[in-house]
Amino acid sequence: MDEPFRDELDQLRARSLLRRLREIGSAQGPNVELVGQHLVNFSSNDYLGLAADERLRAAATHAIEQFGVGAGASRLVSGTQSPHVALERAIAKWKNAPAAIAFNSGYAAAVGTLPAIAGKNDAIVIDKLAHASLIDGARLSGASIRVFPHNHLGKLEGHLEWARREKPQARVIVVTESVFSMDGDRAPLREIVELKSRFQALLLLDEAHAVGVIGPNGCGLAAEEKLSADIQMGTLSKALGAAGGYICGSTSLIEWLTNRARSFIYSTAPPATVAAAAIAAIEFLQTSEGEDRRRALWKNIELLHQLLVSETNRKPESAIFPFIVGQENDAMNFAHALQKEGFFVPAIRYPSVARGSARLRITLTAGHTESQIRALVDSIRRLERSSGRH
Ligand SMILES: *Cc1c(COP(=O)(O)O)cnc(C)c1O
Repeated sequence: MDEPFRDELDQLRARSLLRRLREIGSAQGPNVELVGQHLVNFSSNDYLGLAADERLRAAATHAIEQFGVGAGASRLVSGTQSPHVALERAIAKWKNAPAAIAFNSGYAAAVGTLPAIAGKNDAIVIDKLAHASLIDGARLSGASIRVFPHNHLGKLEGHLEWARREKPQARVIVVTESVFSMDGDRAPLREIVELKSRFQALLLLDEAHAVGVIGPNGCGLAAEEKLSADIQMGTLSKALGAAGGYICGSTSLIEWLTNRARSFIYSTAPPATVAAAAIAAIEFLQTSEGEDRRRALWKNIELLHQLLVSETNRKPESAIFPFIVGQENDAMNFAHALQKEGFFVPAIRYPSVARGSARLRITLTAGHTESQIRALVDSIRRLERSSGRH
């Protein structure tokens, strides 16, 4: 008898597209222990090294003593524990927004929010490279979806014209990210805000890879450029070192989501400990030490950019560096060879990126040392030469 899914898995393996989990026996940080091997870690979004930070540990420990582990039920059902309320206040204050709502994850924020704010008579205009959570949220909403090529303002404008012409009464929502998760580049936010205003659309901006990294107090790209989005999304799981997602915006928007976002309503609240840790991270971001940590990250970004990126007239835009290899198999082999040399750099393949654009995705954190970064680039160059790629 054929075992269900065996053939499908074999096909993935044959195309170098099979994924597997890799066990780590340590906390996140610039160094990790992967199945007994110590590796320099260039794979994590823990940009500021907060995932294992003492302040977050202490806040979580304190909260676990007071509130225990499980939250019991959805926050609308069994009461909302104080750390969740305090977290939403802290997010709103930090992001300088009227209100905020926290979700179990960034993924839950996206798939809860888009269907709550758009329905089958509405239109969602979304960047081609937007994160899977945003695509899933858009699909789940039942709205008409128009995809524009990555950062293509002309095509975005065309879609907005279409929406206003064909659906004059509809709510139109532009969905994009401030920093793109697999390419590390930024959206042309000023122009996008101008367009969405001209066409009376709303903007949902996902700042997942920008918060903690960009802007005053690590507040993100919109704050850096003194712009604002109607619906600001982010995650507490990357630079903030904890877990959970959030949406900020008007008090009406947040109250609406409390009533309509299904991933919020029909899911047990995250443990209070996680909220307490996220609050400690948000507080840290607003201290001078937080500022120093961000500066250390940018020093590393500048260094890797200088060593690895040939077109130096481009400025580094984030802590994410795609090193495009092309074929899935080649990317896997490259990542494997780097692991043998002591570096954990993930190979990113379809369907996370387009077929044939497989890459190494190098992410930097504030905790990497200059010699670790130089050693990584030396290894990459050496492996490139020996594989005859250059
Ligand atoms: C990681 C990510 C998410 C999901 O956030 P989680 O908290 O990890 O679920 C959403 N959007 C973007 C752009 C991301 O990179």
